[in-house]
Amino acid sequence: MQEFDAIVIGAGAAGLFCAGVAGQRGQRVLVLDHSEKVAEKIRISGGGRANFTNRELDPQAPHKHFLSANPHFCRSALSRYTPADFIALVQRHGIPFHEKHKGQLFCDHSADDLIQMLLRECDAGGVQRWQPCGVKAVRQGGDGLYELDTERGPVRGRKLVVATGGLSIPKIGASDFGYRIASQFGLRLVERQPGLVPLTFDGDGWAPYAGLAGLALPVRIETGDKKNRMAFLEDLLFTHRGLSGPAVLQISSYWREGTPIRLNLAPDTELPTALARAKASSRKLLANELAALVPSRLADAWVQQDADWQRPVADTTDKALARLAERLSRWEIAPTGTEGYKKAEVTLGGVDTRELSSQTLESKQPGLYFIGEVVDVTGWLGGYNFQWAWASAHACAQAL
Ligand SMILES: Cc1cc2nc3c(=O)[nH]c(=O)nc-3n(C[C@H](O)[C@H](O)[C@H](O)COP(=O)(O)OP(=O)(O)OC[C@H]3O[C@@H](n4cnc5c(N)ncnc54)[C@H](O)[C@@H]3O)c2cc1C
Repeated sequence: MQEFDAIVIGAGAAGLFCAGVAGQRGQRVLVLDHSEKVAEKIRISGGGRANFTNRELDPQAPHKHFLSANPHFCRSALSRYTPADFIALVQRHGIPFHEKHKGQLFCDHSADDLIQMLLRECDAGGVQRWQPCGVKAVRQGGDGLYELDTERGPVRGRKLVVATGGLSIPKIGASDFGYRIASQFGLRLVERQPGLVPLTFDGDGWAPYAGLAGLALPVRIETGDKKNRMAFLEDLLFTHRGLSGPAVLQISSYWREGTPIRLNLAPDTELPTALARAKASSRKLLANELAALVPSRLADAWVQQDADWQRPVADTTDKALARLAERLSRWEIAPTGTEGYKKAEVTLGGVDTRELSSQTLESKQPGLYFIGEVVDVTGWLGGYNFQWAWASAHACAQAL
């Protein structure tokens, strides 16, 4: 039976990076994946250009951009392997990249540049890759080594690293394997749910807005009560079934079922003042005046909601104008659900961080490590999830 110092299950962002770093530190490493292609999530990420890190990640307080039952858990790994470290690696490989907004870094050409970089790093470390290769069973032998029954036969490793990611996008290889391994060894899990995901609304309640599908605009979005309020200033996208766009993806990770979200659809405009000015000086329909303040499709759809808003602005009562301003700047609506793992970018929850060392990512089961998205650490939209994959993989590789 073949034997390795470390076996990494999952050739995605975290698994490939960990394997490469560990291999270059002299470990004999095997990385295996049940998918035919490696790192499919990197390939489809960031619209095909992979938003691979974020310059705004604060190494002193990285937990600001991450969700976890223990928000401080990620600090150790993230502060020891920073965006600057990963940028230096990308530069060493001559991969051109650019910054979009809010510190987000993307490849200029294609996410494949990043995948090829990770594979070159693995080659430099003499890493063996088995793919496609499913794992049928995992057990710990009497000598403490991990024995795996794989589709390519049995294999043994002194250390086992689980880097199987989350549940989102099952059609490109996502599975619950990592959570099952954790449970098999008695490690606790934090409940999983889709994150960075579009929100849906019930058919009748959504009917007035269905015609807005395709409309995008900057908004302020918030959820939670006074104590736990979370807010983002980002772009909103109306879809046929509900709301999406960066604003909604961000808030979806904080939204809890049964609670509303609140939106300011004109965050840069003092609506009461602007509407009062229009009333004093214009003979136009209110919808036309409103179209100067928000996108015209939104203005048209919005005034349909109230007969008092369907007349010249000069003839609209102050009360009706105040109601309109209030409804646009504090639009409260309760999602009925999310688009689920089919559309989610990440999985919230996962292997409970209380079971893991924040320094090494080793679990309470000696020799068994969990890295990347399978762990209960979820980043904001904007390159934070990949940075967690790189940082947790790096911390683990140092310890193998
Ligand atoms: C559409 C989309 C866009 C995204 N865009 C971005 C972005 O721009 N920036 C960003 O930071 N994050 C982005 N993300 C999130 C990011 O892709 C993930 O957080 C990241 O890939 C997690 O890395 P990982 O290595 O933990 O898991 P993954 O990269 O998902 O890798 C897990 C690997 O494990 C393998 N695997 C699973 N089960 C098994 C099994 N039973 N046996 C063997 N192998 C198995 C899978 O085939 C896969 O190769 C995006 C996600 C999606 C879905």
